[in-house]
Amino acid sequence: MSTVEQPTVLVVEDEPAQREVLAYNLEAEGFVVARAATGDEALLLVDEVSPDIVVLDWMLPSVSGIEVCRRLKSRQETRNLPIIMLSARAEEVDRVRGLETGADDYVVKPYSVNELMARVRAHLRRTRPAAVGQKLEFEDILLDSETHKVFRGEKLLKLGPTEFRLLSTFMEKPGRVWSREQLLDRVWGRDIYVDTRTVDVHIGRLRKALCQHGGADPVRTVRGAGYALG
Ligand code: CA
Repeated sequence: MSTVEQPTVLVVEDEPAQREVLAYNLEAEGFVVARAATGDEALLLVDEVSPDIVVLDWMLPSVSGIEVCRRLKSRQETRNLPIIMLSARAEEVDRVRGLETGADDYVVKPYSVNELMARVRAHLRRTRPAAVGQKLEFEDILLDSETHKVFRGEKLLKLGPTEFRLLSTFMEKPGRVWSREQLLDRVWGRDIYVDTRTVDVHIGRLRKALCQHGGADPVRTVRGAGYALG
């Protein structure tokens, strides 16, 4: 069992064969893949699965990739969602237009799958560092997502798997306030029914674990909103 939730990649491509090749390669890398064949479907799926990154074809029927990108980048909740735009149009003017609508990256078809995978990983290193095997630090806490070990000062902490997932979620974005529902989605997954009070129970265990060798409690309760680290 993985202790950090695998990133979800939304693949938006109307050509079934191209969509499947991409999805196959992303799944082989260990990512969770959501598939959309149209722009409308993509916009619905973004709300439904909260992807960590979108690989978006420019040429789609009805709502174009450019339009999907523009809409996602104009919404507060999805503004920071990385978007890699795929296009058969190699002209510089198209590349500029693609990036101007807010796409984070632009890849010209036919592309090398390896290069695209490298770009997906590069964007996730920035936005989901714990999920791609990075070491995370916050004050005197060090979390190694490769060995699944957590240290505070020089001391190794004993942590349950749920507390590890909670802590890696917090350490990816110190200071960010997470609601109980957001933590449920990220740490437990959407398919499992868990009561929001369960979150409070595990936050309590995490606090205890973080302070098992002393030190101040770094987890902050934000009244009416949820929890944050620092
Ligand atoms: Ca297409």
